[in-house]
Amino acid sequence: VIASLEPLIAEFTGSQEEAPRAIGVACAGQIDPTTGAVVYAPNLGWHDVPLAARLKETFHLPVVVENDVRAAAWGEFAFGAGEGRGTLIAIFVGTGVGSGAVLAGALWRGAGNVAGEVGHTQVVADGLPCRCGRRGCLEQYVSGSGFQRRLDAAAHGGRRSRLLEAHGGEAARVTALDVYEAAGAGDELARELWDDAERYLVMAAANYVTLVNPDVLVLGGGVIETVPALFEAVVRAVPALTTLVAGRALRIERARLGDLSGLIGAAALATPA
Ligand SMILES: [Zn+2]
Repeated sequence: VIASLEPLIAEFTGSQEEAPRAIGVACAGQIDPTTGAVVYAPNLGWHDVPLAARLKETFHLPVVVENDVRAAAWGEFAFGAGEGRGTLIAIFVGTGVGSGAVLAGALWRGAGNVAGEVGHTQVVADGLPCRCGRRGCLEQYVSGSGFQRRLDAAAHGGRRSRLLEAHGGEAARVTALDVYEAAGAGDELARELWDDAERYLVMAAANYVTLVNPDVLVLGGGVIETVPALFEAVVRAVPALTTLVAGRALRIERARLGDLSGLIGAAALATPA
């Protein structure tokens, strides 16, 4: 990863008229907030990689490494749906469920830089096992990977479904949009999965709003982008499921920066105004 990252940074910084002031990196995983080291990133297979130190040494510039979802929340706060002020919660639903929050203008990191992990809050007591080692996490019910795991378990349990048959019995080929469309077409298994997804996303978002009382709740990520009904379900249900005042104060918006939110957020964190 570093061998492809460094030439890319060199190429980009060399092609700009203005000399770069700093390097901002949005990286998946747990990031040490003081050293910018990647403590653990399961997607990259990284343990204790001193990413910020390494880039500082190569480029002789200040380097800020932030978790990709926190960086994306900051990007949406500063340049997207948050319009740069107040308190914002961002929930991203894609392969997994990630989230970041900005409280009164400051990125919320928590004691160990892992604050806001709404995907691993429990929505079902003793529910489905999660890769984090616990059970009943939101991510198991709402994400693309969660749908696939549930479909796979249903297939192995001998459950029949047109949705699965249409994909050769391979759950890994089924997308969130497939689940949504099959639910609409009367597939019983797809209906169960989709109802759970709406119900638990709404529940988790409403609880989050009740706790934080944000100005804006931003929803983004691949599943939100491809299935508008999920965003609409949150808009419809969340204001009534939180406290009266929190519901009145709340704006619910789609993410505006798409895949660029993490990049823009990391760049903004590295070069504060
Ligand atoms: Zn979990």
